[in-house]
Amino acid sequence: MYDFYSDAKSKPTTEMRRVVLDCVVGDEQKDEDPTTSELCSRVAELLGKEATVFLPSGTMCNEIAIKVHTSPGDEVICEQSCHLINFESGGPSAISGVMIRALHGENGIFTADQVRASIRLDSRYMPRSALLCAEQTANMGGGAIWPLEQLDEVAGVAKEAGLTTHLDGARLLNAAIKTGTSAARYAQNYDSAWIDFTKGLGAPIGAVLAGSREFIAEAWRLKQRLGGAMRQSGIVASMCLYALDNHVARLANDHELASSLGRDIANLPRVDKVLPVQTNIVIFDLADDAPTAAELVDRLQAEGVLVGAFGARRIRVVTHLDVNPEAGEALMWGLSKYLGAPR
Ligand SMILES: *Cc1c(COP(=O)(O)O)cnc(C)c1O
Repeated sequence: MYDFYSDAKSKPTTEMRRVVLDCVVGDEQKDEDPTTSELCSRVAELLGKEATVFLPSGTMCNEIAIKVHTSPGDEVICEQSCHLINFESGGPSAISGVMIRALHGENGIFTADQVRASIRLDSRYMPRSALLCAEQTANMGGGAIWPLEQLDEVAGVAKEAGLTTHLDGARLLNAAIKTGTSAARYAQNYDSAWIDFTKGLGAPIGAVLAGSREFIAEAWRLKQRLGGAMRQSGIVASMCLYALDNHVARLANDHELASSLGRDIANLPRVDKVLPVQTNIVIFDLADDAPTAAELVDRLQAEGVLVGAFGARRIRVVTHLDVNPEAGEALMWGLSKYLGAPR
């Protein structure tokens, strides 16, 4: 099986599994796990923040950050296609009791003017605008990279109006590797930010949330409350450290493969439109005479290739360390069979 469904599908490599044998462990919730502590310091430095906390998933990073930054009834400004609206089981509402103000951006990216127009007046009738969230890269925008100035600008507008800012950095390192701008620089004007070790970096579990000392102290309290506090978490943190050392620079390979797949897919007759490919995600729409997205997913699966349907006619393909150019050829062979020979 060639699995292009998500970069979360990669399996830990043999070398990554080996580091577990020698890692030093202790009770994480008492700050006694040296391997987790090392991972936390490394990510604090990488993201340019005072403190960090190790969490089981990126979803928990988003949900805890929202809870720390808001009070029930507050409003969170974010883009309509973002993860925290669409793929977190209604967490912002269920856990934090917040309202969502969804902006319609371009490929997941919105403008400072849109933020300005969405910030509430100070009125007893209205929810309080409390938090601005941005996603770097924008997943459903086809892995689009926020230009640094625009990412700074939307944060600036929010901060001027007294909002806090949060950066969903599930694929922040993809942006950093592609542009050469550091992850810390992208996160600079964001009160909290995180990276995911299971998206493209190849680890089996783990994400690290970063922010000020006070922010992380509150995040820790919520981690404990939600049952996210761990014991000998060095077992997984060691694999995350391995990923930081060995799987970051290679994200460039994923970008190269995605870019070549994007070009080839754009040449298939029954493809309507391919979103601009900037990192490791290719999102494309099927023409009216093509099978539906769900049908195509089933047919490709029968050929040993997995892709994702995200909409009736929308397909997502993601590259990562378990798919190589040979897998790309299998994907293109399957796609041509159902979407016509390349023009
Ligand atoms: C996958 C993803 C998340 C959630 O991360 P998990 O580790 O799967 O919980 C959040 N935001 C974005 C943009 C993602 O792609």
